Amino acid sequence: MSLPPLRRLPDGTVKQVGPLTGTRVWTIPGRANRPLATARPDARALESGEHTRLCAFCQDRYLETTPEKERLVGDSYERIGRVAASALQDSVAEFRRFGNLYEIVSAEYWRTNHDFQPAADVVAWVDDYLADPAGRAHIQALVATRSAANGASADLRATALDLIGGSHDVIVARRHVRDGATRDDELASSGELTPDEHAVYMTFTARAAREIADSQPYAAYVSVFQNWLRPAGASFEHLHKQIVAIDEYGPQTERELALLQEDPRLYQHAVADLSVREHLIVAATDGAVAFAGIGHRYPAFEVYSTCAAQHPADHSASELRAVSDLVHALHAVTGVLVPTNEEWHYQPRRAGVPMPWRVVIKARLSIAAGFEGGTKVYVNTIDPWTLRQRAVDDLQHLRDAGRISADVRIGDECTPADARLHYAD
Ligand SMILES: [Zn+2]
Repeated sequence: MSLPPLRRLPDGTVKQVGPLTGTRVWTIPGRANRPLATARPDARALESGEHTRLCAFCQDRYLETTPEKERLVGDSYERIGRVAASALQDSVAEFRRFGNLYEIVSAEYWRTNHDFQPAADVVAWVDDYLADPAGRAHIQALVATRSAANGASADLRATALDLIGGSHDVIVARRHVRDGATRDDELASSGELTPDEHAVYMTFTARAAREIADSQPYAAYVSVFQNWLRPAGASFEHLHKQIVAIDEYGPQTERELALLQEDPRLYQHAVADLSVREHLIVAATDGAVAFAGIGHRYPAFEVYSTCAAQHPADHSASELRAVSDLVHALHAVTGVLVPTNEEWHYQPRRAGVPMPWRVVIKARLSIAAGFEGGTKVYVNTIDPWTLRQRAVDDLQHLRDAGRISADVRIGDECTPADARLHYAD
């Protein structure tokens, strides 16, 4: 039995089936108009100087994170690689990258299950780091923090190797709160960055994902995601992305690879053409298109690169900018106070079939409960048509105010040609 991906019943209930996932989602009439954002009840005034030391990702607290693999500095985003502990405070990082102190897939996992050993240049950096007294003290403090958390005692050099040679990195933006913020809920989300800053953030992340794939030969895939706010899984309310190598594709990519065997133009036919027919294009740029997603458990936007390039790092600067401008605009529409997950999907290195890069942004508004667990039918509070219309209205205001890129075409300014994907040309 094949269900239509999207239909409205006579009473107004909207039933959806995810074209790539098979997930079944209902939107019940009357529950759809609840507000997206809610003000934080516990917001408080910031003390003088507090805006740069609110959490362990803040710029006055660089030593609370693991050795820094790279940072971008100044107006030209000059790259500084392998920052010595004694040099951490010599510059302000617009964006920085370091290993996650609490990895999902740990260095020990790769070492034990795959006999992975870090490359010689990584081992040399570890020894250099420990030879510097500031570096040694940094690692000692991190060992103490980790031991307190997991109870394990650890050899200093072995721990340093794991912290520096792991395959789960964090990319952190400079600001915790907006420049000039006076309250701690004036957070600097993705949508609060300028379009230029956001493009640098995306490009830095794409390159890091490629580098992690290159340095972890047992990785089948490298997952890239951003959790915003605690209900979406973030430990800190400080903007960051995570990049995690894993040794399998995971069931969603496997499902898509199976579907691609039947239809190499799967994403065009099952997603883009459907979105055009159902009038779900939210916005477009020269190189990317955004849809209100069908069959998601949470209200979701899907941004597809329309370029021939597949891995995010293989996109040219203008192609990457095209994707970034839409992702940025949709974060701006969603707002600072809404918890979101941003998930990147792209072709695994050894997949062998073309797949487009897409970025899914999900607003984590509802919590799955017993109804969902018992039926595997999920209730989403906003149907795709309503989500599109709200986004289109808000995007126009944001573009008029200069808050998003002027290159973003919105709603009916887009044409079916904007939804033509070139990944499989
Ligand atoms: Zn912070």
